[in-house]
Amino acid sequence: MKKLFCSLKIVLTFLILIQILFALTACLPSENLKDGNEIQISENQNSLHIGDEKQEKSENETDNLSPEEYDLPIIMYHSVLQKGGTAYTISADMLESDFKYIKEKGYNTVTVNEVIAFTEGKGTLPDKPIMLTFDDGYYNNFVYVIPLLEKYDFKCVTAIVGSFSNSKDNIEGKKQSLSYSHMNKYQIKEAVKSGRVEIQHHSYSLHSYGKARKGMRINKGESYEDYKEMLVKDTLKLNEWLFENCEVTPTAYFYPFGAWCKEGYEILKELGFKATLGVEAGLNRIKVGIELKNLYRYNRTGTLTTNRFFEKNNIL
Ligand SMILES: [Zn+2]
Repeated sequence: MKKLFCSLKIVLTFLILIQILFALTACLPSENLKDGNEIQISENQNSLHIGDEKQEKSENETDNLSPEEYDLPIIMYHSVLQKGGTAYTISADMLESDFKYIKEKGYNTVTVNEVIAFTEGKGTLPDKPIMLTFDDGYYNNFVYVIPLLEKYDFKCVTAIVGSFSNSKDNIEGKKQSLSYSHMNKYQIKEAVKSGRVEIQHHSYSLHSYGKARKGMRINKGESYEDYKEMLVKDTLKLNEWLFENCEVTPTAYFYPFGAWCKEGYEILKELGFKATLGVEAGLNRIKVGIELKNLYRYNRTGTLTTNRFFEKNNIL
């Protein structure tokens, strides 16, 4: 009995040894196949480290898809002419040169609504976002800008002034001037239909020089009630006109001449505006949860070359 037990023990030990040997040889080929992983396998410490790195990387990759913050340059254009070249006019060729530069640098155009959705946690932004804004709704934008947006696969934001677009000068059938006219309701609607133009608010009638008020700003000595009544009336007038004629509801207010006041800002918020844009130069830092108050913009004068403009402002 003792002998039998002893030989059983020998057999068992032998079997275990064979199993271990088998297991070892089974592992070897796979290790040898992955040459690069040899260090990883031979040094446990290393393999753990590499594993951690992999985890970190995958976290970073997710960050790249939806980072918490972005730098957002916003460029402010106005009139686009065949031969521009002043503080508020740029030539169509120079505009194309800007678009080419922006494209080559790998930037992606975004609209105000996309930025709003991102800050509210309801949407994402592309890498290297940039916003192209065109103030005052010039008819020449309709003629020169939209084809370039198509060509470069870009989007822009156009700020409309109600009293300009709804003036007698822009009624259907009337010959419009490339220098002075503004987009009429049909052109605004067509611009929106292109899917490349987002329409925003630049006041109905607060965009004129020589008046007692500077833009939408409250006057000295003016009562809050009077001011509020004026601003609400003017703002809703353009909202209604845009909605009725172009099926557009603006979400951002572009201050005429960049002039603003705290009272007005609060009233615009009450009216449902989710962003305001000024004319001060600077880079915007966009994060989830922030208020899009008085965003900075770089005024693109037509007097500089494309390279000089971007270099001067140290952007892109
Ligand atoms: Zn303007």
